[in-house]
Amino acid sequence: MKYKLIGLSVVTLTLIAVIFISQSMPKDNGTRYIEHIMAEEKEACERCENDALCTHLPIVNINTNGIEIPGKPVYDENLDVIDYTLAEDGTTTVKASIDVIDNKKTDNHLADNAQNLGDVMIRVRGHSSRRFEKANYFIRFVNDDGTNNPQSFLGMDDHHEWALHGPFLDKTLIRNYMWYNIAGEIMDYSPNVRFFELVLNGEYRGLYLATEMITAGKEGARLSLSVNKKDNTFSGYALRLDWGDTDEANKLYPFTNYTTRAKTQHELVYPGTKNMTPELKKAIKDEFSLFEKTLYSYDYNNEKYGYKNYIDADSFVDYFLINELTCNYDAGSLSTYIYKDTSGKYKMCVWDFNSACDAYQEQAMPTNEFRLNSVLWFQMLFMDNEFTDRVVERYWELRKTVFSEEYLFGFIDDTVDYLGSAIDRNYDRWGYTFGAEYDLLHPNERNPRNYEESIKQLKSFLTKRLTFMDENIESLKQYSAESKTKKYNEVSD
Ligand SMILES: [Zn+2]
Repeated sequence: MKYKLIGLSVVTLTLIAVIFISQSMPKDNGTRYIEHIMAEEKEACERCENDALCTHLPIVNINTNGIEIPGKPVYDENLDVIDYTLAEDGTTTVKASIDVIDNKKTDNHLADNAQNLGDVMIRVRGHSSRRFEKANYFIRFVNDDGTNNPQSFLGMDDHHEWALHGPFLDKTLIRNYMWYNIAGEIMDYSPNVRFFELVLNGEYRGLYLATEMITAGKEGARLSLSVNKKDNTFSGYALRLDWGDTDEANKLYPFTNYTTRAKTQHELVYPGTKNMTPELKKAIKDEFSLFEKTLYSYDYNNEKYGYKNYIDADSFVDYFLINELTCNYDAGSLSTYIYKDTSGKYKMCVWDFNSACDAYQEQAMPTNEFRLNSVLWFQMLFMDNEFTDRVVERYWELRKTVFSEEYLFGFIDDTVDYLGSAIDRNYDRWGYTFGAEYDLLHPNERNPRNYEESIKQLKSFLTKRLTFMDENIESLKQYSAESKTKKYNEVSD
């Protein structure tokens, strides 16, 4: 309701925001659709009943014919997760039909004309979030014969795989939306996202965020890879560091997999197993190992042989800054994506801000330290004063644009205004989780008791974190100070 009243100011803010973005963004790919700024306003709805679902957001209606969606955790007597549920036929997914109701000019209702997108295979996705009552889902659009059936989804480019993120731990509901969009403004690629409301087997399930998977998309377009399907040739590939709960076929064992104590696994994300040959896999492993060996060698910052020949340093700089600003500390070891595109250089891609900005379950993330500078790859990059100088310089640049409080708080307020009544409907369904008996964060006082409090917490986290970074960003230079470990670099070529 609030959304309609503030219509005019949204338009005004939108204009300001667009002008602001176009003037101040260092990298403008010109194509990113930022929903709360660009969504067309809809006519106020007068015809519906009070208790009917009536929303300005698209409705996604998924129907499994009542069959339970697999992928929920199975617990032992200590409540440790020992397995995930399977479909009746022993596979990990079940088939479901999927409809989208997304009227151009008017609000959306279940009874309105729906666009049928055919069938999807669906399962619960995520890691710790699989325990939550409001589940995250993975869907794959399929033809009758089970083959991939790439579809445009809620206005995003054709693809067969999508993540349906249902914010639950994140009481603000906007963390992933916010940081994917901000990353998308400054980095080459960040997953595109769209809000929607989910109805599953006739039951309202609240606010969700449709999210592009970090796979290459149509002919490699998402990650600027060039793919020739006929000849099975790929100009690039994408890897992920994660828990390693994937098929052996996806696991890659490059240099640092053997040489560091990190427990995480390098996994091939693209090309997938269908297009993978033993030769291609070995070529990727050897090439990636060459980069890692270089980075961990005495020649790491040598102009001719060093890491700069392998990576797009700006991408690593931005990845570092956005994950540090948000204290998103899975980054660098889990849910960590790196890819090589047509430029021939490695780039980083952000993923998963669900626990960022002090929503990490186990404990509060200290806002008075840097962490990512001591994890894989980055620990070596920060030994190079040129890299560190770029981090510092870039930080102050971003502080004037997308890292300014004005921009960040404006982004938060405008998104909350845009979501409007969808927030109320989400918490009509899930509002009981604000009660103390459902506290997910430890210690308990970190849990917000209502939506307004969750937004206040997010803002005060950002203020605190920015203050720390303002005062300490220069201190990162200590990691690249001249030292005995660097004397070997004096060897000239
Ligand atoms: Zn209506």
